[in-house]
Parts: sequence; C-alpha cells; structure tokens
Amino acid sequence: MAKSYDPNNVFARILRGEIPSKKVRETEHTLAFHDIQPLAPTHILVIPKGAYVDMDDFTANASDAEVTDLFRTVGSIAREVGAAETGYRVLSNCGTDANQDVPHLHIHILAGRNLGRMIN
Ligand code: IMP
Repeated sequence: MAKSYDPNNVFARILRGEIPSKKVRETEHTLAFHDIQPLAPTHILVIPKGAYVDMDDFTANASDAEVTDLFRTVGSIAREVGAAETGYRVLSNCGTDANQDVPHLHIHILAGRNLGRMIN
C-alpha cells in the first residue's frame, strides 16, 4: 500500500508550478532542478512527478517506466554536467533516521568538489 503523501510538500508545489525552481531537466516522469541550498558546486535534485514519499514507496509502487526514467535521468544529468568524469555522489534520504526533510522522493546529485567519505 502506498504511504500517506502530503500533497502540500514543497516539491509537490514545485511540480504544480506554485513555487519556482531552477529547472535542469524535465522528462515524462521526472523533474530535476537545482537545490536551493547547495552543499557542493553542483547540487541537483531529481524527483519523480508521481506522488511518492521516499525510495521505499517509489520502488514498491512506481511503474517500471517511472523507475527507469528517474535513474536514467540521474545518470544523464551527471554526464551532462561533467560529473561522470570527475566523480559525484548520489544519495536519497529516506525517513526519520536519515532526517528526510521533504516528504517527496528526491535524489541528490552532488559534484564539483571532493565530497569526503560522507555527507552529514
Ligand atoms: P532532504 O534532507 O534529503 O529531504 O533534502 C531536502 C533538500 O531540499 C535540501 O537539500 C533543501 O535545500 C532542498 N530544498 C528545500 N526546499 C527547496 C526548494 O524550494 N527548491 C529547491 N530545493 C529545496
């Protein structure tokens, strides 16, 4: 069963065009935009257009087309910004212990500096 989704979370509002974002890419199932508080020279968020709370919800309930589109978009953007050559980090905070702030699945792409071994 799908997790309870808050339709007024900030990324849902970005998807509806109610608040602005600096768009990087839009596909049939996926939107990518710059993080408002970047932790690295490149910090892009990649989200599904569908209403999924987190990675657990997404991988359990999204269609193969949505899953494929999201992950191909992540890889494609990393190549496009040159991060595939220098290295980059992909992460998704999922739930309480990961301190997920926005309850709509988002994948962070971080690049452009040495990222150390972990992001706090
Ligand atoms: P989380 O802690 O993994 O949930 O990360 C949420 C991310 O969303 C943080 O890196 C925030 O800076 C980012 N964020 C919050 N509001 C906005 C916004 O309106 N536009 C772009 N990024 C945002």
